Amino acid sequence: MVALQFLGRTQRSQDVWEYFFQPTEPIRYLAGQYAEFSIADLIDPRGKTRIFTLTSLPDTPVVSFAVKISDTPSPYKQRLSQLQPGEILYVGQPTGDMILPRHTAAPHPCTCTDSIGPQR
Ligand SMILES: Cc1cc2nc3c(=O)[nH]c(=O)nc-3n(C[C@H](O)[C@H](O)[C@H](O)COP(=O)(O)OP(=O)(O)OC[C@H]3O[C@@H](n4cnc5c(N)ncnc54)[C@H](O)[C@@H]3O)c2cc1C
Repeated sequence: MVALQFLGRTQRSQDVWEYFFQPTEPIRYLAGQYAEFSIADLIDPRGKTRIFTLTSLPDTPVVSFAVKISDTPSPYKQRLSQLQPGEILYVGQPTGDMILPRHTAAPHPCTCTDSIGPQR
């Protein structure tokens, strides 16, 4: 697990927020991968950890993800809403194979869903 220092959040739509963190050591990942993000001091019947897709660009110093905050959020997302700059979350090793192939000479189909995902 790598410690992430919370930098801030930006509202992307009525109920979607993007969260930005400074990793305390480099994190290697590919665009489209996801990771487990843990809040150490959280008490939530669903646990301290959620999976989020990384919205940041690989090889940039800041790590980010986007979440939907409902009208009746879980304790995890209530805690996310209350994060103050400097607070620490923990991230596991990013994983996932929903990534673009290395060789892009041929056209590739693109599927859009109504989920939250990176659009960079
Ligand atoms: C590969 C992968 C990638 C993912 N990427 C993302 C991502 O980029 N962004 C993202 O937002 N999510 C993502 N998810 C889903 C994410 O991990 C969470 O499961 C999801 O956001 C729900 O979060 P939550 O459990 O904190 O509930 P919330 O989103 O807060 O709530 C969801 C619903 O459950 C209800 N609820 C909340 N707590 C309780 C409770 N204790 N008992 C009963 N009902 C309750 C709420 O009222 C609401 O209706 C991803 C999941 C996977 C598997």
